[in-house]
Amino acid sequence: MFSKLLIANRGEIACRIIRTARRLGVATVAVYSDADRSALHVEMADEALYIGPSPARESYLNVEAILGAARKAGADAIHPGYGFLSENATFCASCAEQGVVFIGPPASAIEAMGSKSAAKTIMQQAGVPLVPGYHGEEQDTAHLKSAADDIGYPVLLKAVAGGGGKGMRAVDDERQFEAELAAAQREAANAFGDQAMLIEKYLQRPRHVEIQVFCDDAGNGVYLYERDCSIQRRHQKILEEAPAPGLDEDLRRRMGDTAVQAAKAIDYRGAGTVEFLLDRDGEFYFMEMNTRLQVEHPVTEMITGLDLVEWQLRVAAGEPLPLCQAELTLDGHAFEARIYAEDPLRDFLPATGTLSYLSTPTESRHVRIDSGVRQGDEISVYYDPMVAKLVVWDESRPRALQRLANALAQFRIGGLTTNIDFLYNLASSAAFHRAELDTGFIERHREEIFHQRADDPGSTIPLAALYLVLAQQRDATRAGAPGKDPWSPWSEANGWRLNEPHLHRYTLLIQGESREVSIEQQNRRKGRSYLVSYDGTTVRASGELQGDLLLADLEGHRLQATIAEYEGDYSLYTTGAAIQFSLASADLGEEDNTADPNSLCAPMTGTIVSLLVDENSAVARDDPLLVIEAMKMEHTIRAPADGRVVDFYYRAGELVDGGAHLLEFRADE
Ligand code: ADP
Repeated sequence: MFSKLLIANRGEIACRIIRTARRLGVATVAVYSDADRSALHVEMADEALYIGPSPARESYLNVEAILGAARKAGADAIHPGYGFLSENATFCASCAEQGVVFIGPPASAIEAMGSKSAAKTIMQQAGVPLVPGYHGEEQDTAHLKSAADDIGYPVLLKAVAGGGGKGMRAVDDERQFEAELAAAQREAANAFGDQAMLIEKYLQRPRHVEIQVFCDDAGNGVYLYERDCSIQRRHQKILEEAPAPGLDEDLRRRMGDTAVQAAKAIDYRGAGTVEFLLDRDGEFYFMEMNTRLQVEHPVTEMITGLDLVEWQLRVAAGEPLPLCQAELTLDGHAFEARIYAEDPLRDFLPATGTLSYLSTPTESRHVRIDSGVRQGDEISVYYDPMVAKLVVWDESRPRALQRLANALAQFRIGGLTTNIDFLYNLASSAAFHRAELDTGFIERHREEIFHQRADDPGSTIPLAALYLVLAQQRDATRAGAPGKDPWSPWSEANGWRLNEPHLHRYTLLIQGESREVSIEQQNRRKGRSYLVSYDGTTVRASGELQGDLLLADLEGHRLQATIAEYEGDYSLYTTGAAIQFSLASADLGEEDNTADPNSLCAPMTGTIVSLLVDENSAVARDDPLLVIEAMKMEHTIRAPADGRVVDFYYRAGELVDGGAHLLEFRADE
C-alpha cells in the first residue's frame, strides 16, 4: 500500500478520499487554490500545498503545479477524484514518468475512451451494442446531413470531444438540421476546441443505466451492479439510485457482462463506469465509458457494502481485486440526491454566495452525507456548485425513498438558492414512487415538481409572523438593562398601545412575493396568544422560542419550525416546508414586467463567453445578445425588446460580478 497519497481535487470528493486513506493508514496531502485556502479538504488532510490562483486552469488543472506538489510532499500516489485531471491521459502519463502512481486506468485506456467516436469504434469491434448512428471522420455538413437522414429523425448531435452535455443538440426533423449542427459545432468549438460531431438516433424515453466495473492488473474484471441515473436536467444527472428498478436478473447479468467485456477491450484497470441507454423494449446500447470514479459511486457502495476508493487504492498498489463476481452481493436500495446551489425555477441557473446557514440530517447506517463545505463557506464562481451529496439506504426502494424525502426535509440551507425543494418534490412525486423512470422524467412532470415546497401558506405564514413577534419580544427583553422594571410596558416590544389592540403589521417578502400579515396579541394574563390574519384568514397562534427552534401551536396543531436568520433574511423550515422570507417596506407595488432592467445584468458571477451581435445593429426582442458562463453552465442574455445594443461593457473572456450591468440597450421608440 502507498505511504502518502496526494489528492488532486477539492470539495466533497477530496474529503471522501481522505477519509478512506486515513482508515487505511495512508497519509494524505491536499492541494488548494486561492479560493480554497480555508476549505474543508485542506483542513482534513495531514498536509496541504498551495497550487495557484482560483481559476481551475491555473490550479486544479495545472499539471506542473500538481506534480510539483507531489514531489515536494513526497507523495507516492495521486488520486485525481472526478472532473479536473481525472480523465487527462497526459497527466496520467506524466505521473508515471515522475514515478508517482496515478490512481486510475493506464493512459492508453483514458485515451481510448477520450473521444466519443473512437470509443464507439473500439466498442463496436468488441461486440458491444451501440445506438444506431454515425461516428465517422467525415465532417462536412452535406455528409453529416445525409448520415442523419439515413438514421432517421429525431437524431442527437454530440460533440466527439464532449462531456457535461455541451455541444449536444436534438434535431427533430431535417429542416432544422443545418441550424442545429452549426449551433452544436459552435458550442463544441468553444468548450473543447474541437467541433467534430457524431450523430445518434435520438431514443424516445430511454433510461440511463450504467454499470460500475472494476479490473485489476492480473486481468480480472467484475461488475458491481448498476445505477439508474435517468433523472436528469439538461442531460445531466441529479438523482441516482441502485439497483435500477425493475431490472431482471438476466438483463442485469447481460449488461454487467457486456460492461466487463467493454473494459477488457481496452485493458482497463481500476474503477470505471460503462454507460448504457436502456430502451423500453429492454435493448441496451453503449453510450460512453467514464474512466474514473463517478460522482454517484456512493449508491453502489451502499448496496454492496464496499468502499470503492479502498478498492481503487488496492488495485493501484498491485493487489488483486478483493472479491470475485460470485462473492459480490447486492443488498437493499440506495438513492443519491445531488444538492446544488442552483435555481430550478430559473432553468437551474447556478447560484453563488455564502452558505450562511447549514443544518443537515443526522448521519446513520441509513443516511450518508458527502460534502466539502461547512456553514459560512462560500460557493464560488470558480468551481462546480454542488454543495453535498445526500445518500440514503434501506431494505427496499419504497423505504429508501421515504428516507430520502425525510432527509431532504431536514437538509437546511440558508443564504443560497438550492435545489433542495425541487429534489423533495421529485422524491415525493407519485410517478417517481412508481419508478416510471426515463430521461424525460423531469420535463414530463414539470407541473408536479417545479413549485416551491411551501406554496401552501397554511402554516408557514403564521409561523413566520409568530416568529417575528416572539423574536422582537426576545430582543427587547435582552436589551432591557438589568435593574429596569421587567413589567414596565416600556421594556416590551409586543405592539402594546394604549387603548388599541396589540397589533403588529408586517409585509413579508416570501420567495419574491409580498404578503401582508397582521398579528394581534390577545389575553395577556393567560400566557400569550395571537390572532394572525393574512389573505382573508385568521389563525389563533401561540408559541415560544428556544434558540432557533420555534415551538408553535396553530389552532391546536402543535408544530416545530427551525428559523435561521442572517442579514435580514430568514429561512423557515418545518418537516413539510422550507421558505425564505424577509421583511419588506410596506409599498412594493412598482412591479414592472415589460422591461426588467435586471435582465441585462449578469445573473451570476461568471465569464463572458461571447458577444453575439454588433453594437448598434438592429435586434428583435428575445434575440440572444451575449453568453455568460459560470460553473460549467452557459446562460444567454436576450434582447428585452426590439432595439439595439449601444454599448457592451465587457469583452469575451472577461470576468464579471453577479448583478453587474452588462450592456446598454436602447429599445425602439
Ligand atoms: P455527456 O458526456 O455530455 O454528459 P452523454 O453521452 O453521457 O453526454 O449523454 C448524456 C445524457 O444524454 C444521457 O444520460 C441521456 O439522458 C441523453 N442521451 C445521450 N444519448 C442519447 C440518445 N442517443 N438518445 C436519447 N438520449 C440520449
